Amino acid sequence: MLAFCPTCWNEITDSPRVCRKCGTKVDIHSPEYQQKLLDLIPNSNASKRAEICLLLGRREMQSVVPALVSLACSDPDSIVRVAALRALGEIGDAPALHTIAKVAANEKSPVYAVAKQILTGYQLGRGSR
Ligand SMILES: [Zn+2]
Repeated sequence: MLAFCPTCWNEITDSPRVCRKCGTKVDIHSPEYQQKLLDLIPNSNASKRAEICLLLGRREMQSVVPALVSLACSDPDSIVRVAALRALGEIGDAPALHTIAKVAANEKSPVYAVAKQILTGYQLGRGSR
């Protein structure tokens, strides 16, 4: 599984993880790592925000849902909104699905087609993906 050092953003590809570039200990299963990723969001550019969303989604951590919901609904950049929606789709709890449904129902949203597609995936059954 792909991960990133929250200190220097070096890519880390195997575990257990100490960043080879800066020596930061990276325990991707810890709440601290998740919090570090969340803390990076306000200071990151759009492509990094999108990557963070995808990483958070892959962790299937329901505690990050509120942060993803706010990115999915109000991030200025569409690629971040799409990434947040996909992450919510991975997590798949009730608040996550509620947000996807809300975006899918709003045809003015730049990402509503993506939200619709994720919802359709759910209706077909998660197991088929
Ligand atoms: Zn590092």
